[in-house]
Formats: sequence, structure tokens, C-alpha cells
Amino acid sequence: MTTINCAKCGTPLTPGQAGDPCPNCGGLDRNISAQDRAVLHDKAKAARDLARRHFQIEPGITRITTLWAALAFEALPDTPIKLLEVNENTVPSGVMPIHFGRVPGSGVPFPSVIVEVTPEEFEKIKTAELKLPDGWSLGEELPKPSDLDGGG
Ligand SMILES: [Zn+2]
Repeated sequence: MTTINCAKCGTPLTPGQAGDPCPNCGGLDRNISAQDRAVLHDKAKAARDLARRHFQIEPGITRITTLWAALAFEALPDTPIKLLEVNENTVPSGVMPIHFGRVPGSGVPFPSVIVEVTPEEFEKIKTAELKLPDGWSLGEELPKPSDLDGGG
């Protein structure tokens, strides 16, 4: 199995979308096992939590997008969640994944990998001028909190 689809309408979904209602029809059935779906759901939530925290502590970050490897890897709890962070204050250094361990006390029950790039580098990733590691692809964009001072 290499792709995830909505079992109702067939829309292809990223691993990050697998645990949420289908953006096209709202359906919740997938062509993957319930166990795989549960892992992906938890990973997507952890990715959103991690992204929110990074937006709060690093004002130079303008956008954060998930990165996903093949489903066979992402369905494993040991495969890190991966975030591509676009930071206006960083220096261009290409795609350099930095690995972090689990931080269960902080709501990050998975290992994580952060790739920090400049806005220019992000444009090059979108056009494939700058390559992601083998088998990785851009996932969904994670929302920037609208109220960064709310402490929420
Ligand atoms: Zn659907």
C-alpha cells in the first residue's frame, strides 16, 4: 500500500489528513487499517501541537508544513514526525534535518525531525530545485495561531 484514499469518494489524502474527516466528502473511512489510522491521527495532532509551540517561541517562523515519508514508515510509532519550518531569520543552509527525541511530558509522544529553511529555500523546495530526503514529500500546512499573545 503506497497511498491513502478516502474509502467513500476516493480522494487521495496525506498521512496527516488520514485521521480527520475527508476534506472533500467528510467521510472517515480509509483504505488503511484502523490501527494505522490511529497512529497517523496521533502523529498529526502532535505535529500541530509542536508547530504551535514553535510559532510561539520563534517569531521568525512564517509557515510550517508537515513532511511525510511513505505510509509503511509513517504508520510506525517510532518514525519521527517531520516539520518543515520557514524562518525569515535563518541562514540558507539547504535541507538539513535535525532530530529530536520524544518529549512525552510536553505532549510530543513521538520523535521529531525539524528542517528549517529560508522563504527562498521553501520556494525552491516547492519547485523541486531543492530536494527533500528520499521518499519525503510536502504535507499539509499547519495553521499559525492567530493570537500569539493569548497564552492559550
Ligand atoms: Zn471523501
